[in-house]
Amino acid sequence: MGEIEYRTCIRCNESKPTTEYHKQSNTKSGFRTRCKPCRKERSDARIKAGYLTKKHRENPNHEKERKARYHESKKLDYILVYIIKDYDGNGNNYCGITRNPFYRMKSHSFRGKLNTDKYEIVAKVETRVEALKIEASYHDRGYHGRIKGRPINKNNEYETELL
Ligand SMILES: [Zn+2]
Repeated sequence: MGEIEYRTCIRCNESKPTTEYHKQSNTKSGFRTRCKPCRKERSDARIKAGYLTKKHRENPNHEKERKARYHESKKLDYILVYIIKDYDGNGNNYCGITRNPFYRMKSHSFRGKLNTDKYEIVAKVETRVEALKIEASYHDRGYHGRIKGRPINKNNEYETELL
């Protein structure tokens, strides 16, 4: 009784008292896996990258609302194919598909590997399969992207590599 409970943070690997962790009721331990300073550091980095706004931290429903918008966007009856020429300053080009270029470019920027200033929409189609075909044709021409080569099986699944 009265003994301090410790747990190890999966980020910094330090053993810290559970008071150094936020509570999370839907997990077995009842605590977050990352300690408070590690969580803050990550959220500061994401805010700095423009990927996350302060609203995410201040409004606990923000994530839920964001997901609702995402599912809403799934209902859109179009999908866009975009390219980014010379995304890395070394003459490499990128091609990808998205329903929401605004959020897609933000996620590219956050991953930090693409210069998204010069993205262009090259096609607007009705189905994902059509979009994947156009995307694959760009990749055949040497554009980099999520799909490396052809579908890997007859269910049309692709080898993926996110940039
Ligand atoms: Zn930590």
